[in-house]
Amino acid sequence: MGERTLAIIKPDAVKKRVIGDIIRRYEGAGLQPIEMKMLTLSKKEAEEFYAVHRERPFFDSLTSFMARGPIVVLVLEGEEAVRRYRDLMGATDPAKAESGTIRAVHGTSIEENAVHGSDSSETSKFEVGYFFPKMDINSR
Ligand code: ADP
Ligand code: MG
Repeated sequence: MGERTLAIIKPDAVKKRVIGDIIRRYEGAGLQPIEMKMLTLSKKEAEEFYAVHRERPFFDSLTSFMARGPIVVLVLEGEEAVRRYRDLMGATDPAKAESGTIRAVHGTSIEENAVHGSDSSETSKFEVGYFFPKMDINSR
């Protein structure tokens, strides 16, 4: 069954109509979607989700961006899902992301970088629980 990680297809990517391409890349990499939903975050919810970044200079801009339009949130499962999904996404700044990664292909700027992925197994537990509180707690 493997590890779980939280993925978000951000408002910029939804607007660009690349939801399908991004999910195809998840599946192609053996990262199996086991939960998925589309929603629009309020500014307050974006601030809760990104609370770890509240002291960063880009916090207000980031949370406004994340609340700007619909997002797709998924739980991906697979061997070493956290690390392998980080590799598939590429670096935070699309200009620095390895070619062929999702951010290199679909990202626009260091802020509007198409996708989110948990950065550790610990973080993934908080993030999966934030969006899918009813998921089987024993397997998280
Ligand atoms: P990652 O998403 O690669 O884990 P971080 O956790 O450091 O990156 O940052 C969270 C999100 O905040 C990034 O995905 C990006 O949307 C935004 N961000 C990061 N750094 C900057 C920056 N210097 N300026 C504007 N937005 C940023
Ligand atoms: Mg991060």
